[in-house]
Amino acid sequence: MESLYFSPMLLGLNLMLASAVACTGLWYFSRPYRGPGFWMAGAWLLILGIFSFFVFVATGNRPLNVFGNATQLAGEAVLMLGVFRFLDRPLPWWTVPVSAGLMAAANSWHWWVAPLNSELLIAIYAGIGGLLPLQAASALLRHPRDAELRVVCRCVGIVLLGYALVTLLRGGIAVHDWLNAIEHPDVTRSMAYLLPYNFAIPLWVIALVGLALMTMRRILLDSQRNARQAEASAQRFERLMNVTSCGMLVLQDGRIQDSNPTLDALFGQPREGLLQQTPEQLFVDAERARIGPLLTQADGTPADVTALRRDGSTFPAELSVTHLDGAGQQLLEVRDVSHRKALEERLRLQATTDPLTGALNRRAFYARAEHELQRARRQGQTLCLAMLDLDHFKRINDAHGHGSGDQVLCEFSRLCQHEARSTDLFARFGGEEFVFLLPDTTPDAARNFLERLRESVEQLRVDANGISLRVSVSIGLAASPPNADLHLLQEAADTALYRAKQHGRNRVELAL
Ligand code: GH3
Ligand code: MG
Ligand code: MG
Repeated sequence: MESLYFSPMLLGLNLMLASAVACTGLWYFSRPYRGPGFWMAGAWLLILGIFSFFVFVATGNRPLNVFGNATQLAGEAVLMLGVFRFLDRPLPWWTVPVSAGLMAAANSWHWWVAPLNSELLIAIYAGIGGLLPLQAASALLRHPRDAELRVVCRCVGIVLLGYALVTLLRGGIAVHDWLNAIEHPDVTRSMAYLLPYNFAIPLWVIALVGLALMTMRRILLDSQRNARQAEASAQRFERLMNVTSCGMLVLQDGRIQDSNPTLDALFGQPREGLLQQTPEQLFVDAERARIGPLLTQADGTPADVTALRRDGSTFPAELSVTHLDGAGQQLLEVRDVSHRKALEERLRLQATTDPLTGALNRRAFYARAEHELQRARRQGQTLCLAMLDLDHFKRINDAHGHGSGDQVLCEFSRLCQHEARSTDLFARFGGEEFVFLLPDTTPDAARNFLERLRESVEQLRVDANGISLRVSVSIGLAASPPNADLHLLQEAADTALYRAKQHGRNRVELAL
């Protein structure tokens, strides 16, 4: 017991224990960085080996001596593997079984075949224990794949090199003593004993501290690099938000967190006013119910919506929603599509109306009339169709020119559209021929309406180049019998129109 009062061996064991605990902490806090796991495993193997050796000293149990020495060297080899792991180099796995195996073989020979000189055994142990760090030191000194880790790697490499040299020197002295049959009555006064305690163990501890510093340096460099990348990508995102012609909103858990200048301009709202609002507030009441599902879906599909500016005015917008991340952040893109909508409307008008008079064209008339006819059939309503043809229109063209004729056509058309109900269909069939479809109208009511219209046309005066032009219209009217066909109805109205022309023009004739 007294030898424990001042025991370098106990101090050494405690230092190794402290390094194993430190390596464990390093592994735990640096996960998933590569290397510290090996250092932790190696350090604890070393402790296991030292303990086994102590138990052997106390009990004389030979297998424990063999196991202890082999495990210590295996621990050291595993620790060195960690260096290769850290440097991302191929691992020399073979060092673990070779170093442990050699030591176990020598020890077993000593105990069960023929006793070996203790100096020789020390020399074998020190030889293996010195070569292992030599390999790791050379990797560290030649490593620098990562230039920013070069200094710390070299420092650790130099310390490991020092440890290796001291250990090999210890082995050399042991060989010398073995060959010269030098006995050490007090082993604590031999160099083979003093070198490890005075130099090797301190260097070992410094090397382990160095490994920790190496890991911390790598973590620091990585986090600095990540911070730089995050900063750069945040700046890129900010620039993108500022230069895009599309209004963008960033939502966090359904509330507006950020917006870009285009969006502020689109809605006439400063950013501060938008923050913490819900996106629904940016759209007209009728649209608000649609916004929720778009946010839930968030698949980037564009939807046409009506947006609401701060001053209460509205504009047609295209809205698309996408997830920015999995943590409740969403990106709303809002585009003002007024131009597109105006163009679509222009195209729609071009496709359905007559360019001179603005009345429906023949194709649009047929499509809608067919629809009205079906409805009239379904609801059992009477529907009337009237063909209108301007009288002696050719004379107007001949006498006053085509331009004046056009003017008359336009004025006539405007008058008809003005007199018509919103449900009536009025179309230009071509030339000076027009058609009226009067849904839910009896023949008498239709006749009254058309008579009034005819009189209004009679009263119409069209000013063409200072000359007041007059015009009259002949009208053929047909009422729909049940299951009427549009073309039959039109034919009947045409026949009635022909009769109107025959009977002197400027009159309304009802089909027989
Ligand atoms: P009626 O009373 O028998 O109907 O005689 P009308 O002269 O009105 O009939 P007609 O079919 O003989 O002549 C129609 C004229 O309409 C002939 C054509 O030059 C003119 N016309 C057709 N389309 C246009 C147009 O877009 N603009 C102008 N200015 N004239 C047109
Ligand atoms: Mg005609
Ligand atoms: Mg005519």
